[in-house]
Amino acid sequence: MSRYPARAVVDLGAIRSNVRALAAHAPTAQVMAVVKADGYGHGLLPVARAAVDGGATWLGAAQADEALALRADGLTCRVLTWLHAPGVPMEALLHADVDVAVAAPWALDAVVAAARATGRTARVHLKVDTGLGRNGLMPDQLPAVLDAALRAQAEGALQVTGVWSHFAFADEPEHPTVRRQAEVFADAVRLVEGAGATLEVRHLANSAATLTNPSVHYDLVRPGLAIYGLSPVPQLGGPGAYGLTPAMTLEADLATVKRVPGGHGVSYAHAYTTPTDTVLGVVPIGYADGVPRHASGSLPQRPGGPVRVGGRRTAVAGRVCMDQFVVDLGPDARDAAGDRVELFGTGADGGPTAEEWAQAAGTISYEIVTRVGARVPRVYV
Ligand code: PLP
Repeated sequence: MSRYPARAVVDLGAIRSNVRALAAHAPTAQVMAVVKADGYGHGLLPVARAAVDGGATWLGAAQADEALALRADGLTCRVLTWLHAPGVPMEALLHADVDVAVAAPWALDAVVAAARATGRTARVHLKVDTGLGRNGLMPDQLPAVLDAALRAQAEGALQVTGVWSHFAFADEPEHPTVRRQAEVFADAVRLVEGAGATLEVRHLANSAATLTNPSVHYDLVRPGLAIYGLSPVPQLGGPGAYGLTPAMTLEADLATVKRVPGGHGVSYAHAYTTPTDTVLGVVPIGYADGVPRHASGSLPQRPGGPVRVGGRRTAVAGRVCMDQFVVDLGPDARDAAGDRVELFGTGADGGPTAEEWAQAAGTISYEIVTRVGARVPRVYV
């Protein structure tokens, strides 16, 4: 049992039920659970297993190493990996029966070389930049890469298995780029199928599009954030509105509780000063553990990230430090060292949420959960 005074408790039942909920939102598509970045901070392998138990038939990972780790753990479902740079262990990916994305001409050459070297037939997903302006073949690059891919397919080196893309504004479903990207995607699919490829999967939808835009579900949806029970469209609805349950609860044990007078400066640079005689609690988790420094509370009137102690809500008082932060528990506090402090959790019972931390820090909930530090033990329930 870890003695670390903080922990991220991950509810694998929530992951399973979130995958089921996503499958119900996209009944005509398969579900690829996106488990990159250590399962968005929740732990790659436990999350992957839970997602498969919940009905995901594919797993998605940005990095080759993540995909190989899934296979090394014995997961046999389809796995796609997509963020390759020269030097990517393409031969190992083919030996491990991992589907690979081709997002640039060099990557097709690398796949073909690896297929010839291993004698394997690579399953290739052509990634098209339909308007995100990030990784992917520009539509005017697609014909030449497709031509080369189909020549390699004829010699048995690969199979053009998928065409796919990613949205820039899926979290704003009414944004005009959503429709434009969907049109460019449909054109790309027509081009590839018109050239004679028999595609197994066309895929475009992340969590937000899975939940809000059935017209782009195609054969496969690729939710990440929603698998973990967080809403990708918080302005439209929280997790409950989509049948999702946040899987991670981040908690710590109070290290110290002490009474201080009014006017007492708290933490570095005294960004917070106690308004009255009060009780301060020291929470032994800080920015090295992923607690955002931008969620510091600078004044009593401008509280930092929310916490719950002894059933009451309070907030970060003063600067978040590397290993700790302080909360003002109020003049009547009866809390003691060792008491549990909840930073965020399901939010179902009025507790603080990752989304609130994101707002306090001026970021998105993706960053709050993926940044929970490696030294914080993950406890699976
Ligand atoms: N597909 C790709 C290519 C991604 O990079 C990501 C994550 O950013 C996802 C799907 C999942 O996105 P989300 O977490 O918004 O569902």
